[in-house]
Amino acid sequence: MRPARALIDLQALRHNYRIAREVTGAKALAVIKADAYGHGAVRCAQALEAEADGFAVACIEEALELRAAGIRAPVLLLEGFFEADELALIVEHDFWCVVHSLWQLEAIEQAVLSKPITVWLKLDSGMHRVGLHPKDYPAAYQRLLASGKVAKIVLMSHFARADELHAQSSAEQVAVFETARQGLAAEVSLRNSPAVLGWPDIKSDWVRPGIMLYGATPFEEANAFAERLQPVMTLESKVISVRELPAGEPIGYGARFITDKPMRIGVVAMGYADGYPRQAPTGTPVLVAGKPSRLLGRVSMDMLCIDLTDVPEAGLGSTVELWGKNILASDVAKWAETIPYQIFCNLKRVPRLYSEG
Ligand SMILES: *Cc1c(COP(=O)(O)O)cnc(C)c1O
Repeated sequence: MRPARALIDLQALRHNYRIAREVTGAKALAVIKADAYGHGAVRCAQALEAEADGFAVACIEEALELRAAGIRAPVLLLEGFFEADELALIVEHDFWCVVHSLWQLEAIEQAVLSKPITVWLKLDSGMHRVGLHPKDYPAAYQRLLASGKVAKIVLMSHFARADELHAQSSAEQVAVFETARQGLAAEVSLRNSPAVLGWPDIKSDWVRPGIMLYGATPFEEANAFAERLQPVMTLESKVISVRELPAGEPIGYGARFITDKPMRIGVVAMGYADGYPRQAPTGTPVLVAGKPSRLLGRVSMDMLCIDLTDVPEAGLGSTVELWGKNILASDVAKWAETIPYQIFCNLKRVPRLYSEG
């Protein structure tokens, strides 16, 4: 069998979830949209269900997958419904539902529901993606209450720049939120991972940690809480071929690396078809046989090359960690000019093997 695989440490997932709770003292919805950022939504939900206050996903398809697997905990649809006929399923499966637009509010008012639903009413406090305009917010709240179709309302908003620890933007968004929600007596949900880890003073009855659950920091700079996170995914494979080359020899597509001395090269069964970023340049860190090394030349679809010159103990069959407990996904992301979110979400083809740590 091809040796590429993703090891998923469910104990680390629970550890990270507990940090979200511990540092905020709040209830926490584990954000497991996009197949738990590539980690497998059902397995992650099962690992967390005994302690999680609930889960959050992007759409009803993802929510139904959880119910089909027997997950009974609350599940929030982060974008609510896309079409009004989803409301019947929302009632049937007890999903919690974001309302981010007036058309959704009108659809709820017009729907015939067999039971009232839980709505998370989203304010656009400055990100300008989804969410109600502040001037419409109090009236939308009152209309939901008056509709008789809503059992509970949570007031929510989302930060655009919480990962920038010195930006004013989050404080400005909180001020907009506080003004818009004046007089509305309801629970509040504001904080995503960077706000959980980096903005201790922002009040939020419910927090919505995503990337931090998977053990990756959302920050460019150091953060004491982020340092306590444990990476959940280890992407690894093995060296499947070794060659010794003199100076001046090209390696891989486009000859993007030319040996500058006699070198030993290892070929690893891992490529961009597995989700390893093709943009990762020569120098991107890897671990081989437990020793740090680096990527050489272009990443191809199924293989990539690494430097074994200074790792004599490594050879055919040596294990290579592409990211995980030693090589941080956030570092690989930086080399590849992307973010750990995308690194994880891109994972494909490789089997995921779960362990309890
Ligand atoms: C994805 C998402 C989150 C989680 O964000 P992280 O940065 O991964 O913690 C929280 N809230 C909403 C509305 C989201 O869409």
